[in-house]
Amino acid sequence: MSDTIFGKIIRKEIPADIVYEDDKSLAFKDISPQAPVHILVIPKKPIVRLSEATPEDHALMGHLLLIAKRVADQEGLSNGYRVVINNGVEGGQTVDHLHLHIMGGRQMTWPPG
Ligand code: AMP
Repeated sequence: MSDTIFGKIIRKEIPADIVYEDDKSLAFKDISPQAPVHILVIPKKPIVRLSEATPEDHALMGHLLLIAKRVADQEGLSNGYRVVINNGVEGGQTVDHLHLHIMGGRQMTWPPG
């Protein structure tokens, strides 16, 4: 089990505003939202970052994307949304447990910073 802050959220050792949960994944509101809707989807398996996922994680990776879509639907993001994975230092990753950001409720710009 991951010893990061997200591992603690999975184990319910610290609170989070959980919007979806199943046996493989968890989705909860970002504590520092960058958009009106900002939710993180994480695997319960402690994969540190996308670049450390393996072929064994094939189905889990697909599952996470479908949960991202499900959460976006649940949150009413019918005009669109952005899904982001920050990977490693230059990718801006700050928590060492793979997570997908789902952001919506405002117009996104490109390129991101
Ligand atoms: P990243 O920079 O891609 O690693 O994203 C980490 C995200 O986790 C940031 O957007 C943080 O605001 C968010 N975050 C950190 N701690 C918590 C927490 N306890 N509950 C919810 N979100 C958190």
